[in-house]
Amino acid sequence: MINCKNCNKPFQPTFNKGSEQLYCSIKCRQENAQKRMYERIKNDIMGNIPKPIEKPIVNQQPYYNSNELFELKLEIEKMKYEQRLKDIENEYSNKLHLINNNMQHILNKIEEQENIYEDKEPSQFEKVISGIAPLILEKLQKQS
Ligand SMILES: [Zn+2]
Repeated sequence: MINCKNCNKPFQPTFNKGSEQLYCSIKCRQENAQKRMYERIKNDIMGNIPKPIEKPIVNQQPYYNSNELFELKLEIEKMKYEQRLKDIENEYSNKLHLINNNMQHILNKIEEQENIYEDKEPSQFEKVISGIAPLILEKLQKQS
């Protein structure tokens, strides 16, 4: 006795043309053939249906509530502002340095002139320059 491959009921197989009987009846043999056919068709169809593509999570932004977002914006603005201040400070520091150097150069020239024409009375321009230059220099040095 073996069990029918279709209905699973036990039956006494008979040998027909050398191959063992697998089904209890013709009905079961046909039914099982149909089942296998449908199964094959189903697998063919399923195999051809493209699987949904999983979207990868790329660069997901951290979530901020409105307060945190406001704080973040404020922080960014503050950083921009501080950077701008630094730029301005550097710019003016460089300019002051340049003015300082030019002033020193002028003072040196005046001193040279005074040494050459020691006896000569200084011109009105020289008097003015030699009068105000040290004051300007002093002021610049205090600022930088
Ligand atoms: Zn059967």
